[in-house]
Amino acid sequence: MRTLPDTADVLPETCVDVLVVGGGPAGSTIAALLAERGENVVLLEKDRHPRFHIGESLLPFNLPLFEKLGVKEEIARIGMPKYGAEFVSLYNRGTAGFEFANAWDKGFPYAYQVRRSEFDHILLKNAAAKGATVIEECRVTDVVFPPEGGAVASASDATGQLRRWRAKFLVDASGRDTLLANHFQIKQRNPKHASAAIFGHFAGARRLSGKAQGNISLFWFDHGWCWFIPLADGTTSVGAVCRPAYLKSRKTDLAAFFMATIALCPPLAERLKHAQLVSPVTGTGNYSYRSTRMMGKSYIMVGDAYSFIDPMFSTGVYVAMSSAFLGADVVSASLHEPKKAARAFKAFDSRIRRALDAYSWYIYRMNTPALRTMLLTTTNPFRLEEALLSLMAGDVFRPSPVHAQLAVFRLVYLLLGLRTLKASFRAWRARKGAARLGDLPPAAEPVAPEAATST
Ligand SMILES: Cc1cc2nc3c(=O)[nH]c(=O)nc-3n(C[C@H](O)[C@H](O)[C@H](O)COP(=O)(O)OP(=O)(O)OC[C@H]3O[C@@H](n4cnc5c(N)ncnc54)[C@H](O)[C@@H]3O)c2cc1C
Repeated sequence: MRTLPDTADVLPETCVDVLVVGGGPAGSTIAALLAERGENVVLLEKDRHPRFHIGESLLPFNLPLFEKLGVKEEIARIGMPKYGAEFVSLYNRGTAGFEFANAWDKGFPYAYQVRRSEFDHILLKNAAAKGATVIEECRVTDVVFPPEGGAVASASDATGQLRRWRAKFLVDASGRDTLLANHFQIKQRNPKHASAAIFGHFAGARRLSGKAQGNISLFWFDHGWCWFIPLADGTTSVGAVCRPAYLKSRKTDLAAFFMATIALCPPLAERLKHAQLVSPVTGTGNYSYRSTRMMGKSYIMVGDAYSFIDPMFSTGVYVAMSSAFLGADVVSASLHEPKKAARAFKAFDSRIRRALDAYSWYIYRMNTPALRTMLLTTTNPFRLEEALLSLMAGDVFRPSPVHAQLAVFRLVYLLLGLRTLKASFRAWRARKGAARLGDLPPAAEPVAPEAATST
């Protein structure tokens, strides 16, 4: 562990109860909750909101969190209602539509698609309204944990001035910048999964009709999968999640490469036939990682600061905000009820890990023939579709019969995997090899169309 740099004596220090690093959904949520409980909270954000961020599709279980934060109406004003999802596969030549209203618990029938610039700004302003001191354009550059406890963070503000905060507790909500995971060198690339993405926004894309117009569409294709997320202002977010090596093979500029990638997925290309690209195209490198721990005596990591797996189920914002809710209890216990702190830390750790593991199981198998077939099959034996929809809605943090049904789902997957053994084995072997090399396998063997039922 580092000691305070020599400038410690000359820099003025501000003392606070809680210092939150990062003003994304995780940081703004925990800052709002703790400020509301009367803590002296400072949130430092390196950018100035509103600012662009990827991650526009939310889950139904986000809505109770908005209500608790008091931002439900504001989010409804900027959001495009999303009642479900559509999966489209080139391999099974099938399309399957899902509605959240058919999940195990019917009380969470919709979510929203949002522009993250607007969404994150609402949450940040809410943190300030609840009493947190929000300082934008202030980047935390260093953290030390002195032996007497707490944390001391150095940051560079909008004028380039170096400032210092001494906090009883530090919350790392720095997203994929992973401030503390880098500091402790505990960030690990996901050994089972490697993905990169390329994305942009279109005007004039053809949406689904009626109530489904706000639904997310996911398309499997040779290099991975693509998303189609309709936003309330008429634009549509489109992205391709591919093997890092595929993105590295680019020989043209990013926009031309993006359009060529879309052309490789004909059902998506058809939806964009009359659309215009209206934003710069962005690419991200391999983003799947986990840190070996998410907490210490006077700090926790929430949201992407601890882990990010994959955007497949649109879980990022929901998990980030949920970890902030769980994390707020850890901070409160740590500050005021030290006897309860150990239990709170343990509950926080196990609930986050369990939720991430639940999603990871599906994400790692998404390109396998057996899982694709199950997703595209419209019958609902043993209420498996309801259980899967509950997972997709975000019902992972509370005790529920859904967990037992998901275990049955995994068993059926294994049995189906035996039926498509050759293709499944090739997919598994390729994925394992590719993950070792930092790449994902080529798309798994097509399943015979008759193995899946189209809707
Ligand atoms: C390609 C792709 C597509 C995605 N699609 C979806 C989706 O559809 N739905 C979904 O829910 N999720 C999606 N995600 C994931 C989602 O973007 C994240 O999970 C979510 O934003 C995590 O929130 P957070 O608050 O933890 O981090 P962020 O939202 O990243 O917020 C972190 C904040 O910390 C600030 N910061 C960083 N370092 C410092 C520092 N040193 N000092 C001060 N401030 C700092 C940053 O500026 C930022 O504002 C996607 C991710 C990727 C890569």
